[in-house]
Amino acid sequence: MAVATEIQVRDKLYIGGEWVDPSGSETLDVVNSTTEEVIGRIPQSTPQDVDKAVAAARQAFESWSQTSLKDRADCMRQISGALAARSEEIGALVSQELGMPLKLSVQIQAGLPTMTFGSMPQLLEHVVWEQEVGNSQIVREPVGVVGAITPWNYPLHQIALKVAPAIAVGCTVVLKPSEVAPLNAFVLAEIIDEVGLPAGVFNLVTGTGPVVGEAIASHAGIDMVSFTGSTRAGKRVSELAAQSVKPVALELGGKSANVILDDADLQAAVTDGMAKCYLNSGQTCSALTRMLVPRAKLEEAERIAAAVAEQTKVGDPFEEDTRLGPLVSDVQRERVRGYIQKGIDEGAKLVAGGAEAPDGLDRGYFVRPTVFSDVKNGMTIAQEEIFGPVLSIIPYDDEEDAIRIANDSVYGLAGGVWSGDEERAKRVARRIRTGQIEINGGVFNPLAPFGGYKQSGHGREAGSFALEEFLQVKSMQL
Ligand code: NDP
Repeated sequence: MAVATEIQVRDKLYIGGEWVDPSGSETLDVVNSTTEEVIGRIPQSTPQDVDKAVAAARQAFESWSQTSLKDRADCMRQISGALAARSEEIGALVSQELGMPLKLSVQIQAGLPTMTFGSMPQLLEHVVWEQEVGNSQIVREPVGVVGAITPWNYPLHQIALKVAPAIAVGCTVVLKPSEVAPLNAFVLAEIIDEVGLPAGVFNLVTGTGPVVGEAIASHAGIDMVSFTGSTRAGKRVSELAAQSVKPVALELGGKSANVILDDADLQAAVTDGMAKCYLNSGQTCSALTRMLVPRAKLEEAERIAAAVAEQTKVGDPFEEDTRLGPLVSDVQRERVRGYIQKGIDEGAKLVAGGAEAPDGLDRGYFVRPTVFSDVKNGMTIAQEEIFGPVLSIIPYDDEEDAIRIANDSVYGLAGGVWSGDEERAKRVARRIRTGQIEINGGVFNPLAPFGGYKQSGHGREAGSFALEEFLQVKSMQL
């Protein structure tokens, strides 16, 4: 796969079905996380650009919300097909932006958005658009203009999770992607333009959260905000959105526990848990970053985990045998190294990795795959989201203790339970307060509802639940 060497200069915004000049002249650089070189440049939009995009989306809503399901389903199919045709390009772009190994990037970063758009026609058929309750006819209607704000870690996937269901049910969208990994969003805008979606149904404004994100969250012309990102920014978005009482869907951070019960296959559980912690260099909101093991098995779990970490090949995401690429940015690398040092300072036992750069990788935002053992759940590394390849192994005394530790977190996004007895695992899983949980390494299901409890957010994305997020309910008394 050839990697583009020229800087991708994107100097226009996609508003009202056209590529238009931004109102200001400021730009933001996009950096390759492996080479640390600038690979792209995008506009830093202004609140005036947001105004323009909102006006276009409002105008488009009147007619788009009245189009037939069939027409909207056809658009979804076409977008999905065009994404599939450009999957190698999208995968390579995201690998450069944030460092995921290329093969995985094509599968996940390009494959999931293709699937999300492609699943819409069928999901639309199953929405209960109308029903009768006594003398009332209940109808479901699109919520209106949706402001979508997305992060960098699975950039196009998170965009697709919002844009596809929103426009499928008849909403129009103003999207602000992450400034850190925004180039893939321009590919989607190109595709939407080629497919010929009516002007204003989808609008792209790029720039920073405090300027463009806040302009979207507080805009009176936006009917709903769908946000994915950190809990910190999610709270700010909610505060701003409250001024105009608009609904907000939040997909936020996590600190998920993987509970390995005493009758589990330890080798399989630890190995799988490590993969779920290290996916995308640990930059995954649902990463299983706390591994809970019976105290009597702590040493054995440690040995397995250390061996897996040491065998994990860190390097260039474009090399075939790389399992772990760099982190997305310098800021992120320094943050993660700081957490590793904090773990050492707070007395956790370092059994693999460490805060220093991996050998031979002095360029690129690399971090060593790290494992801490004998971690106490009150330690910073067990409470805060690190967003890097850092696993905390925490011993527990019995099943009740494991459940207590798993739930001892402000977050409630994901989790896992391992047991030789599936019914026992499910019993424990029901008591863990998270939006999703996998049993014995159950594989990710892109059509299952995804979202959090507690400070991991509210609302659900993916599959049929995603459509509900963008619908209002009206009752007509007859
Ligand atoms: P951030 O919260 O920093 O950014 C997310 C998005 O919000 C970006 O587009 C960002 O803009 C924007 N933003 C930042 N500040 C504001 C603000 N004040 N007002 C409005 N918008 C703002 O998160 P990251 O991009 O660093 O992503 C990592 C985080 O996302 C992690 O905490 C992770 O857990 C979470 N996440 C959650 C998922 C879930 O489904 N639960 C999925 C994936 C990630 P800018 O471009 O300037 O950064």
